[in-house]
Amino acid sequence: MEKEIKNQIPHCLIIPYPTQGHINPMLQFSKRLLQKGLKVTLVNTISSSKTFKTINLNTSIEFETISDGFDDGGLTAAKNIETYIETFRRTGSQTLTQLLHKLTKSNNSIDCVIHDAFLPWVVDVAKEFELYVAVFLTQACCVNSINFHAFKGWLDLPLLEKEIVLPGLPKLEAADLPSFLYKYGTHPGYFDILTNQFSMIDQVDWVLANTFYELEPEVVDWLKKIWSLKTIGPCVPSMFLDRRIQDDNDYGINIFNPNSESCIKWLDDKPKGSVVYVSFGSRSSLSEDQTEEIAYGLKNCGRFFIWVVRESEKSKIPKGFSETLEKGLIVTWCQQLEVFAHEAVGCFVTHCGWNSTLEALSLGVPMIAMPIWTDQITNAKFIVDVWKIAVKGVGDEKGVVRRESIEDCIREIMETEKGNELKNNAIKWKNVSKKSVDEGGSSDKNIVEFVNELMLRRK
Ligand code: UDP
Repeated sequence: MEKEIKNQIPHCLIIPYPTQGHINPMLQFSKRLLQKGLKVTLVNTISSSKTFKTINLNTSIEFETISDGFDDGGLTAAKNIETYIETFRRTGSQTLTQLLHKLTKSNNSIDCVIHDAFLPWVVDVAKEFELYVAVFLTQACCVNSINFHAFKGWLDLPLLEKEIVLPGLPKLEAADLPSFLYKYGTHPGYFDILTNQFSMIDQVDWVLANTFYELEPEVVDWLKKIWSLKTIGPCVPSMFLDRRIQDDNDYGINIFNPNSESCIKWLDDKPKGSVVYVSFGSRSSLSEDQTEEIAYGLKNCGRFFIWVVRESEKSKIPKGFSETLEKGLIVTWCQQLEVFAHEAVGCFVTHCGWNSTLEALSLGVPMIAMPIWTDQITNAKFIVDVWKIAVKGVGDEKGVVRRESIEDCIREIMETEKGNELKNNAIKWKNVSKKSVDEGGSSDKNIVEFVNELMLRRK
């Protein structure tokens, strides 16, 4: 190992799994660490870094790359998820080792590696260099706890019980569990990724989770008994929590084409709370049948709407539908946070990805839950029944949420007393969420503690 000359400021290397839903929160967390006086280098894969469009990324974060073995195309170039993960482990370990040697030689050595829980092999590499390690959990703690139980073999799989009782969680139906557990065996590759998140957890120095204490206190308290867990979220840029968009524009890397201007201009002349915003995130794919139901549910409800349909999903929109729209705008991507922060937006039809969920909750936007798979199922249960900021679209026997159900949900949120209650709850959560990341709040304190502990240990 090269001889290390310690820099004054502790230096963290942050390694997200290369998708939007993982890079976004880890980039925001990087900025928090920077604000607290640390030096931060964010590591992306060669393939994902080729697709970034940086939007005024006015930050002192440094960027480096490693290889996942698929430098042209990343995951989409791999035969399947199993091949991707195994190749990433092999090639990633080698290229991360090279990167750490390079940084040490250039007197830019690392003190602590913060890695995405989807990449547990990073721990072995970091330990070779005798570095401190923190694992970053990108999902909700309720979901982490359920997946951890599966990893430990504390859940009988396939699930035989209808009711699942776990510490720190409300009573759950089996169908509320992440789909890879409820529908055990359907996607073994993803099941392995989600359970392997915990394979190295007893060897890391800190466990950081993108949530905030007040949102899920019981399960966080329970997990704290077994991990050195710190809740540090929501990893949403503070300027959005403060609605100071115009002051600061350095909020992110966008893997897709940003066309926020058209959305914001379009929203500007719409009445307060009048627009339905619809997005199913960066990866989920809907059936043609479901896409058609959403299209007519939105059209028939007669309200303004913005519908994000990614380029790869566009062919599923019914023929001629886009041309006849009077009150709708269809975009391939938008700056979601800017949309949430706009007062014209009245509700969010969502797949319940954890980032979208936390972002809407933190900006006070009530939701219509239409989860598709994985942790989205459990997130939907919590936003509807525990945090009470959403209604759920009801699927038919094929699992398709029909246009009538979508219309009913929109009407319920936009027009009824229950809708008002959900909106008020959303505003309450917004305030709690903002408080948690403000100076002295629960997440802010945890970040300060992490920074202080790191400073103390490296002395
Ligand atoms: N997002 C965005 N514009 C869009 C749709 C999504 O900026 O049009 C962002 C969103 O703000 C969130 C991320 O993409 O940070 C999606 O992450 P999430 O966990 O919600 O879902 P995933 O894409 O992982 O399924």
